[in-house]
Amino acid sequence: MSTPPSTSAQSQPAAAETYDVVVVGAGFAGLYMLHKLRGQGFSVRVYEQGGDVGGTWYWNRYPGARCDVESMQYSYSFSDELQQEWDWSERYAPQPEILKYANHVADRFNLRSDIAFDTRVDRAEFDESANSWAVTTSDDRSVTAKYVVLATGCLSNARMPDIRGLSGFKGKVYHTGNWPHEPIDFTGQRVGVIGTGSSAIQSVPIIAEEAEHLTVFQRTANFSIPARNAALTAEEREAFRQKYSEIRRFAREEARNGIYTEMPDRGALEDGENERRSKYEARWSRGGLTFMSVYNNLAIDKAANDTAADFVRAKIAETVKDPQTAKLLQPNNHPIGSKRICIDSDYFATFNRPNVTLVDIRSNPIEQILPNAVRAGGKDYEVDALVLATGFDAMTGSVAKIDIRGRNGQTLNQKWAEGPKTYLGLMSAGFPNLFIITGPGSPSVLSNMIVSIEQHVDWIADCVGWMRDHGLEVLEAEQGAEDKWVAHVNEVAHTTLYPQANSWYMGANIPGKPQIFMPYIGGVGVYRQICNDVAAKGYEGFVMTAAQQPQKMAAS
Ligand code: NAP
Repeated sequence: MSTPPSTSAQSQPAAAETYDVVVVGAGFAGLYMLHKLRGQGFSVRVYEQGGDVGGTWYWNRYPGARCDVESMQYSYSFSDELQQEWDWSERYAPQPEILKYANHVADRFNLRSDIAFDTRVDRAEFDESANSWAVTTSDDRSVTAKYVVLATGCLSNARMPDIRGLSGFKGKVYHTGNWPHEPIDFTGQRVGVIGTGSSAIQSVPIIAEEAEHLTVFQRTANFSIPARNAALTAEEREAFRQKYSEIRRFAREEARNGIYTEMPDRGALEDGENERRSKYEARWSRGGLTFMSVYNNLAIDKAANDTAADFVRAKIAETVKDPQTAKLLQPNNHPIGSKRICIDSDYFATFNRPNVTLVDIRSNPIEQILPNAVRAGGKDYEVDALVLATGFDAMTGSVAKIDIRGRNGQTLNQKWAEGPKTYLGLMSAGFPNLFIITGPGSPSVLSNMIVSIEQHVDWIADCVGWMRDHGLEVLEAEQGAEDKWVAHVNEVAHTTLYPQANSWYMGANIPGKPQIFMPYIGGVGVYRQICNDVAAKGYEGFVMTAAQQPQKMAAS
């Protein structure tokens, strides 16, 4: 290991431009990775393409953006002082507050000095003779590092839709995933929103309040549960803090999705209709993502799932006054939860407003964008501004943008041409000393992301510490272990209803992207145990090499 630069030297590259670890991205994953590795005495350089910290919360500044996991849980647990001292203002904090929190963490732990902002990593190439990575950045600089950690995020690569005429539109075009930093005022404008996923569902009610007229172009109706957002009182925060250690333990070890809630003890069909309805009502009134935790078989049994889906469809019909609009808003082509469930504040009720129109572009697809209108089904909808809430090239998109070359010059994009292949979602065979935080093949987007980020960061930090302690230089996933893991991830996914939806989990939102269920659905507790067991067995399934001679570590 190279000697970590002293604190005073950290603001400038080490003399030899050599680091123990290069981390790509300064979102929640990159920030904690830096903090953790630096605490272990490693020299670390973080590159961040944005102008500041925060990752997804730096880019997603659209109106109404807020977290869909309660903030007391969507927050770091690694520092008890931090979790005891930070005051979240609302049940689901709005984007500016989450960004403020990321900035607070960066300052509190003095992280900025090791982060280069406005700097993209363009290329990373493994040098087999030196056992190190050569990393080239967008400012044409090159550094070397023993390890590279991709903390690039799962939903950070906003995707522009390929719609004819879009570039000729005369008004302003905004993408929810890459929103301007200054506030946008839609007052007096005719606005078109394309897409009806989480980002649209959060922004539509706010834009509708401002715009003269809002037209929402919907290809697929989505299930959405009321957030029931509210200000947090000091008493509520305090009650949470008193229980924090148990809440965090439960989220890590027992909850499948990393969220503390009551666990269901039965399937939906084990209750009679009245009992079932009252349980759904109770969760609907409480609001939030844990609606899907009413029963333990909603993700695996279609008949059970139908009971929850019917309940939500009935709620939509109750809320939306125009029966035709209500029918269009009722999802009917995928099981509830098989696409990421949305959490809203008055989304469905917004369609009762006289200044809001829903356009069904499944039956009448968008033909083209004209300079002042969207043409769909032969009709022109005049708009002054367009909001594209069309999502992301999820899970692999940001990694794919970097030219990553492993052994024998193979690129990661070549290796993943038919879908991402990893061992534990952490590494890919042929790409030594390259870690991915919340990579495909790990629970990642199916969980409270911060729980999964912390687990990966801790595991990676332990791993590289262990390598240093054992005089080892190179760590690489074994091909056989990777093949088995990929098969396992796939097998578990196909015991559920998830693959029945054309979701971004499957890569289905990107034309030509291989359709493979990318996250690991076994649950964060089970997954954590698997990762811990692998480490306890001397990093079973990984090949390790000492400075000179290759050796396979025997399981201890
Ligand atoms: P998304 O879920 O992928 O939704 C994109 C929407 O755009 C879909 O309705 C999609 O229709 C539509 N679309 C895409 N391309 C189109 C085209 N060419 N023409 C017409 N419609 C098109 O993206 P998102 O809403 O940005 O959310 C992505 C994920 O980010 C979420 O699932 C969630 O995990 C995360 N997120 C979280 C929060 C939160 O924490 N509250 C907020 C926002 C996002 P189809 O469904 O037919 O493809």
